[in-house]
Amino acid sequence: ARRKLVAGNWKMNGSHAALAELVTIAEAARAAPLVDVSIALPATLIAPAVALVPGFAFGGEDVHAAESGAHTGCLSAAMLVEAGARFTIVGHSERRADQGETSQDAWAKASAAHRHGLGVILCVGETDAERDAGRAARVVQAQIEKSVPDLATGDWLTLAYEPRWAIGTGRTPTLDEIGEVHAIARAKLRTLVGDAADGIRILYGGSVTGANAAAILETEDVDGALVGGASLTAAKFVPIIEAA
Ligand code: 13P
Repeated sequence: ARRKLVAGNWKMNGSHAALAELVTIAEAARAAPLVDVSIALPATLIAPAVALVPGFAFGGEDVHAAESGAHTGCLSAAMLVEAGARFTIVGHSERRADQGETSQDAWAKASAAHRHGLGVILCVGETDAERDAGRAARVVQAQIEKSVPDLATGDWLTLAYEPRWAIGTGRTPTLDEIGEVHAIARAKLRTLVGDAADGIRILYGGSVTGANAAAILETEDVDGALVGGASLTAAKFVPIIEAA
């Protein structure tokens, strides 16, 4: 069976002062040995977080596909590793929207991260308009097809289904809708990586809170949660860990 993963994503939030939250979060993670817990941080906070809470799985929120070179403002996988990151998010919808990233970019980034031994949380998800048009499943299938590297396994790859319209809005799909997309996503993974699909965790993300986490995490084919706003404080994040 797949272990549940509760992953936080601080996005462009946090500060050295806010790292104190991580001490409490790590304590809660230690008290929940059957659940994996990790947090993606702004790159400047990774090394200080690792120094403060050694042993906890911190990650980056993005990575560049290239090894090095003339890419002002970007970070390579080797740099994330050197900062102490164990994984990185790629393909987040905010980067797709704000930086114009494509599924092909997500593929290249995931491949680069894996070459350097980083785990990868690869995000997919439809827009509001795509869901209204009945295209959610097709959009997610196409994103998976274009972005999941060949030979991916659950040892390093995690998929995150994050409907864009559910991010930071307080709106979530119904449990049936979440289960439906996760089942479709796993079937699509199976066509790409065969039986390895059974080992790849599929997280749900988008307005997960302590109040809705238990029901979402019990949904068939949901192997965890990717949490934005509610990962910023221990008071909000610990109940999600405890619900898993
Ligand atoms: P919220 O939990 O704030 O909706 O964000 C979800 C998300 O985008 C995590 O990557």
